[in-house]
Amino acid sequence: MEKDCTFCNILNGEIPTKLLFENETLIVFRDINPIAPTHLLVVPKKHIRSINDLTVDDNRIVSEIITTARDMAQKMGIAKSGYKLFFNVEKGGGQVIFHLHLHLVGGWK
Ligand code: AMP
Ligand code: ZN
Repeated sequence: MEKDCTFCNILNGEIPTKLLFENETLIVFRDINPIAPTHLLVVPKKHIRSINDLTVDDNRIVSEIITTARDMAQKMGIAKSGYKLFFNVEKGGGQVIFHLHLHLVGGWK
């Protein structure tokens, strides 16, 4: 847990957030500033700064982030129409919250 990290503060309840899914590895919630009709964030409980900081020990976490995003797309009814998954990496890649997260966006007509 990092004191000034928004997602750690969501994880510890300091920032109240409606979770769409939670298990021992990760949480899923809606992006507060959506760029698509459906915009979810899949966030590991472990504080990892960005994709650059992943180690081989994190492989299971990363794979669970991706399969959970797939399951959430199914649950939100956008699996068939299609969606995008992306990680922003560091400032130049558009990352503003330095706690790893996968964006799931879709639901366009
Ligand atoms: P990134 O640019 O990849 O770091 O994305 C961070 C995302 O977190 C942005 O799309 C924000 O809209 C979103 N965000 C920031 N604060 C919150 C919050 N309290 N609850 C939900 N989403 C948030
Ligand atoms: Zn964090």
